[in-house]
Amino acid sequence: MQIVNFELEQELWMQEGACVFADPDLFFPVGSSMKALKQAAEAKAICNECDVKLDCLEYAIRTNQDSGVWGGTTEDERKSIRREYKKTGNLVAS
Ligand code: SF4
Repeated sequence: MQIVNFELEQELWMQEGACVFADPDLFFPVGSSMKALKQAAEAKAICNECDVKLDCLEYAIRTNQDSGVWGGTTEDERKSIRREYKKTGNLVAS
């Protein structure tokens, strides 16, 4: 799990993330440059191999993580997921 904000709530699944030893910069790309897009794509590829992907996504939605890649989603992708989650309580990844 990418640990950048030390105020993050610690949960057991975080220790099992496929990103534990990955470069944290991949998960927090800055801007929309080609480099940032490649970093996000690389982060999402790691997420897609992660056993705790849904736990991570649920956490990001529940705690309003509005930057970075979490659970295989970018901040923009989580906006629609968050709306659906508030309405139904379900995570529907697009
Ligand atoms: S889903 Fe992605 S960001 Fe979340 S713990 Fe797994 S690898 Fe890390």
